[in-house]
Amino acid sequence: MNFEPTEMQQQITQVIRDFGKTHIQPNVLEWDETQTFPVQLFKQLGELGLMGVLVPEQYGGSGLGYLEYVTVISEISKICGAIGLSVAAHNSLCTGHILQFGTEEQKQQYLPKLASAEWIGAWGLTEPNTGSDAMNMKCVAQKDGDEWVLNGTKCWITHGKSGDLAVVIARTGNVRDSHGMSAFVVKRGTPGFSGGKKENKLGMRASETAEMIFDNCRIPAANMLGKPGDGFIQSMKVLDGGRISIAALSLGIAKGAYEAALKYSKERYQFDQPISKFQGISFKLADMATEIMAAELLTMQAAAGKTQGKKVTQHAAMAKYYASEVAVRAANEAVQIFGGYGYTKDFPVEKFYRDAKLCTIGEGTSEIQKLVIAREALK
Ligand SMILES: Cc1cc2nc3c(=O)[nH]c(=O)nc-3n(C[C@H](O)[C@H](O)[C@H](O)COP(=O)(O)OP(=O)(O)OC[C@H]3O[C@@H](n4cnc5c(N)ncnc54)[C@H](O)[C@@H]3O)c2cc1C
Repeated sequence: MNFEPTEMQQQITQVIRDFGKTHIQPNVLEWDETQTFPVQLFKQLGELGLMGVLVPEQYGGSGLGYLEYVTVISEISKICGAIGLSVAAHNSLCTGHILQFGTEEQKQQYLPKLASAEWIGAWGLTEPNTGSDAMNMKCVAQKDGDEWVLNGTKCWITHGKSGDLAVVIARTGNVRDSHGMSAFVVKRGTPGFSGGKKENKLGMRASETAEMIFDNCRIPAANMLGKPGDGFIQSMKVLDGGRISIAALSLGIAKGAYEAALKYSKERYQFDQPISKFQGISFKLADMATEIMAAELLTMQAAAGKTQGKKVTQHAAMAKYYASEVAVRAANEAVQIFGGYGYTKDFPVEKFYRDAKLCTIGEGTSEIQKLVIAREALK
């Protein structure tokens, strides 16, 4: 398969690099230090068509495929992983869920405002006691006439406080029954729905991560996505796409760290020569370059399959697992190549190092990816 960047991918890359130079790069450190979630930036990204990348044009989106989407997420993440994470969660989780499983009426109602970033999207599956073990969730939805009443807490939700619209998965049947959960759209401002604690994180600090609390929150039956009992199975399909996002995010971080380390290794002199001349350093760069290319090929393979409408559960898990571990290794080696300077905030690699770790955790940990890969292999 040919993964040479298309003209569209090259254009996307240029647009993001130009925009990032003026609107993201100068603020990265401040947003990181102060844990600022820059809502206004996402509105600007919406104007560029980057908040509804996969949404067809008829619903106000850019109508692009997964290969272009990977370019969007990885290019943004080269500049700032946290912004990449938020763009990914908005596009492939919240918006992606409605795009895949909404009725025509629901798509018309929600997608244009999400694609333009008039609304920021959130997606709530995880709970305090159920992360990897999502089928054990406690958040419940009970039918009452024409409404569903939601009670419970979701945690670790990207845009849990600032999101304008959330897709929430809640229990409507038995514990550990894959048909015992349903998906609902809940708008910010609905009585009984509030944002809870905002997490103070190691990395990805400009991406808001917070609780969503539901206390007798009444939502119209028309806000259910699909049928009662579809929620968990829908979520697993949404995560197939989401994992390609996290692979792309990982790729961006790994490339950012590698490019910074490559440049620095040619500029930094020790023992009267650039440190890149030392085999010990050049071999690190060789490993980074090789692993990044392997991660990119896995990611593109999954993205191409997804664009063609194929089932990509195993390929998406492989891409996410491998690319996220590569991001952690590449960021670690980049800090090493920078030496003491890499341990400071004067250079970008310490942030890549902190941001990268999330990639092996969010949207299913590396261990869970291995379970998914093995389950598919053993079928
Ligand atoms: C920054 C950030 C953003 C996030 N955004 C969202 C979001 O927008 N929406 C959302 O719903 N969630 C979100 N999450 C939650 C994320 O998906 C979970 O953190 C993740 O799925 C892991 O769940 P957990 O944290 O409860 O870990 P646990 O499930 O408690 O896992 C702890 C450890 O046990 C291991 N483990 C668990 N089960 C097994 C097993 N069967 N075999 C082997 N090892 C196992 C795990 O791999 C891990 O190492 C986010 C998390 C973070 C940190």
